Amino acid sequence: MNDRGYYGRFGGAYIPEILYATIEELTAVFEACRNDPAFWEEYKNIMSTYSCRPTPLTFAENLTAHFGGARIYIKREDLNHTGAHKANNVMGQGLLVKRMGKTRVIAETGAGQHGVATATMAARFGFDCTIYMGEVDVVRQRPNVFWMERLGAEVIPVRVGTRILKDAINEAFRDWVSNMDDTHYVLGTACGPHPFPEMVTYFQSIIGEEIKMQAMAAEGKLPNRIYACVGGGSNAMGAFHAFLDNPVDLIGVEAGGRGLESGRHASRLASKDGNIGVAQGYKTFFLQNSDGQMKETHSVAAGLDYVGVSPILSDLKERGRVRFEAATDKEVIDAMSLTIRKEGVIPALESAHAFVQAFKDAPALPKDDIIVINQSGRGDKDIFTIADAFDDPSWKAFIKTKAEEYNA
Ligand SMILES: *Cc1c(COP(=O)(O)O)cnc(C)c1O
Repeated sequence: MNDRGYYGRFGGAYIPEILYATIEELTAVFEACRNDPAFWEEYKNIMSTYSCRPTPLTFAENLTAHFGGARIYIKREDLNHTGAHKANNVMGQGLLVKRMGKTRVIAETGAGQHGVATATMAARFGFDCTIYMGEVDVVRQRPNVFWMERLGAEVIPVRVGTRILKDAINEAFRDWVSNMDDTHYVLGTACGPHPFPEMVTYFQSIIGEEIKMQAMAAEGKLPNRIYACVGGGSNAMGAFHAFLDNPVDLIGVEAGGRGLESGRHASRLASKDGNIGVAQGYKTFFLQNSDGQMKETHSVAAGLDYVGVSPILSDLKERGRVRFEAATDKEVIDAMSLTIRKEGVIPALESAHAFVQAFKDAPALPKDDIIVINQSGRGDKDIFTIADAFDDPSWKAFIKTKAEEYNA
């Protein structure tokens, strides 16, 4: 990264002038914390006493036997508090908010997972919390809205534009501009203006640091390959960062949706549909048309359904350091079913994308190769989508009964 927050051609901070002072304050506090070894200890302490760090590295003995190739390990980010790696980012930013002396946090959320994680952090630290969410998503993600409200957050449905994530992002920036004296914007992934990609990667890098130590302890060597799904790119950067200078293959897997040819996907780097542009405060590959209008994206996994991607990953793609692939919705459901049956762990639909590519590669790899799949989150949150995909008649009957109970 250069001093203006660029990674090669990507990144930067394209922000309204009025935000400069607050972004500069954030950058200064972040750099001070990053250079203070006591801060990382404080962070590790809260993550081990409030979440579940270090998360285990599980040897997938049955999947390894099933594919007959490389030894497969699963990094268990699903065991974090609130069920995903998102806890790493929000708790880290919470510590920065305390250092800055601010008292209020805001965030935007699409699927609701980042909203729940942020509201949880705010409850724990005693911050006021406002979550922006497109009106369409508020209806679709009712259980997450329920929990955000129980946690004390105010959830504001955004009624402008197409009433989804990108509209919520605009509203969150608007709020920040008017309230920056006491308010911090908790960005949810390794995207947005500098310093967010760098800062979110810093907190998430604990994933790869642990993988390194755990692989050495279990196998006496580094893994040969690491697989992670890519939405905005934070769990992938977290898993990859510690290995950038090691001879380890890094594979990011995007949402292939209905297939790359169908146009209904969220693959900015593995498909040919991504174009370099500037939006939402940073420069990267976006799924946009020739007028710069953002396209509609599709994925069975709500957390991967996003038009932009981390500028750090765009740069790593250009430099050929990370390989990008896409997994289709159907492949994801199959990989998820197999993983549940063989290992008794339930990956989130997002995480299952990484499993798809690992399963394609594993059989042809030498038996003493080690591969690690980052299980970014747990899949029990996805019960409605998964049950739908399995077309389970007793599940449909259950939903019908519930609907009748409500209407009675
Ligand atoms: C939010 C989410 C993602 C996508 O975010 P990244 O920033 O790409 O990591 C992936 N997996 C799970 C389980 C999530 O909740």
